[in-house]
Amino acid sequence: MADVKSDIEIARAAKKKPIGEIGAKLGIPSEHLIPYGHDKAKIDAAFIAAQKGRRNGKLILVTAINPTPAGEGKTTTTVGLGDGLNRIGRKAITCIREASLGPCFGVKGGAAGGGYAQVVPMEDMNLHFTGDFHAITSAHNLLSALIDNHIYWGNEQNIDIRRIAWRRVMDMNDRALRHIVGSLGGVANGYPRETGFDITVASEVMAILCLSVDLKDLEKRLGNIIIGYRRDKSPVFARDIKADGAMTVLLKDAMQPNLVQTLENNPAFVHGGPFANIAHGCNSVIATTTALKLADYVVTEAGFGADLGAEKFFDIKCRKAGLKPDAAVIVATVRAMKMNGGVKKDDLGRENIEAVNKGCANLGRHVQNVKKFGVPVVVAINHFTTDTDAEIQAVKDYVATLGAEAVLCKHWAEGSAGIEELAHKVVELAESGLAQFSPLYPDEMSLFEKIDTIAREIYHASEVTADKSVRDQLRAWEEQGYGHLPVCMAKTQYSFSTDPNLRGAPSGHVVPVREVRLSAGAGFVVVITGEIMTMPGLPKSPSSERIRLNEQGQIEGLF
Ligand code: ADP
Ligand code: MG
Repeated sequence: MADVKSDIEIARAAKKKPIGEIGAKLGIPSEHLIPYGHDKAKIDAAFIAAQKGRRNGKLILVTAINPTPAGEGKTTTTVGLGDGLNRIGRKAITCIREASLGPCFGVKGGAAGGGYAQVVPMEDMNLHFTGDFHAITSAHNLLSALIDNHIYWGNEQNIDIRRIAWRRVMDMNDRALRHIVGSLGGVANGYPRETGFDITVASEVMAILCLSVDLKDLEKRLGNIIIGYRRDKSPVFARDIKADGAMTVLLKDAMQPNLVQTLENNPAFVHGGPFANIAHGCNSVIATTTALKLADYVVTEAGFGADLGAEKFFDIKCRKAGLKPDAAVIVATVRAMKMNGGVKKDDLGRENIEAVNKGCANLGRHVQNVKKFGVPVVVAINHFTTDTDAEIQAVKDYVATLGAEAVLCKHWAEGSAGIEELAHKVVELAESGLAQFSPLYPDEMSLFEKIDTIAREIYHASEVTADKSVRDQLRAWEEQGYGHLPVCMAKTQYSFSTDPNLRGAPSGHVVPVREVRLSAGAGFVVVITGEIMTMPGLPKSPSSERIRLNEQGQIEGLF
């Protein structure tokens, strides 16, 4: 189809309203909106605090099957559903994550949705936006600088320089910085030691900002960061070197949620963006809880497939923030069903009912998993123009056998008009009172049992294996008072197992735990299974090669 416009062309043609008008729709007085230009604003902390007593709207989670290179469109569907709910007369806010610069210049694509379901200004959102990630980078690196400075001036805390856990961050994909030796060049530059950089979205400061309820909570959590250990293995905290106060100052503005609009001039909060592997992968608690006070419906997205994204949304974010989701939407595509059914990417254009049926096992597992949290589910089939009627019907028939419904959605091509049926279905589910949310495991369960429960219940694994050193570490943290924390699984997003090539719905596999890390400030224990990249690299032909300004000074090539 020659007339298919790119995401950026559609976004550029948007008839945006001044951001004050979008705020007014939500009852936010102009004195409580802090404008960043004409089309972005932060919502001030005083206004947020004043909403405390109000009742909450309904919370809808958008999650998905395991991602495939065929693409699923979670953000596109989140934004589309927000518009769809507004279209059928419900006051709805979309809550999504901010974009990281690194993947933007690599391969990932934008983070603002796609087609006729996008938030705007997409160029800003994908680039510097309101500077939140820069503030997080600065706060993180302030702590890094303070650690080396503390050691330089005599190391009063007796930090064992071989056991410093805090690295540096940058919002860029740069493999050259993964492992470095710092403080080279002589006495005046400190003690040389091995360290390295992670990407900003992998910073614990990012996870902390996204889980904090206010600035006081933020400061306390920043103080609780473990920066390293002494020779006797006792932890040294950020507060021990008095870093928490200044870090909070740097994050003061970044803590305020960002308000933007969709292509259809409906409100969207875009705030925070923790990695979905070593962190919990959803937008900030403060954005979600504020949105719940201001709207009847809040539609939010969790990263990756439901085995990682939804599980962490429920077990980490909802548990910590006391949120009770009312319904979940699982995004699936016919193309991804085919890939899960064994079809190669180049053959996706051809009708293949058999492969669709086979691949549906992956979707089925996610539907059943989400139900385990007591949240009612509807499946959204994100329509691609190559889907055939028979293939779509095959997905619908399969989902019906699970006692759920699959609804065809055409928001990418048609905007809110293409997603009305799903909006009605979501309202029906959310109003039904069917939701009885509870996390998968209780706080009191031991850390290893928590890992085991997720592996068996969600991944359908037969067992979890771990070296004695890992088990001893978990027990030591339990003795130090961290046993009540939830676990944050870092697993490949492509499979229920730890093997990215095992698509569909594998069972009986073994989950080997390689390493565990304590994020004491964020308040979870990261469990690493397999190779987890905290500083991505760029591909051979990065998208940056195609990004430039045109004659009119507009950005080209940003998807
Ligand atoms: P996710 O949030 O799952 O990573 P996105 O919603 O960001 O996925 O979508 C990724 C890309 O796929 C976007 O560029 C978007 O335009 C495209 N896309 C999404 N849905 C469709 C669709 N139905 N047809 C064609 N392209 C789509
Ligand atoms: Mg997304």
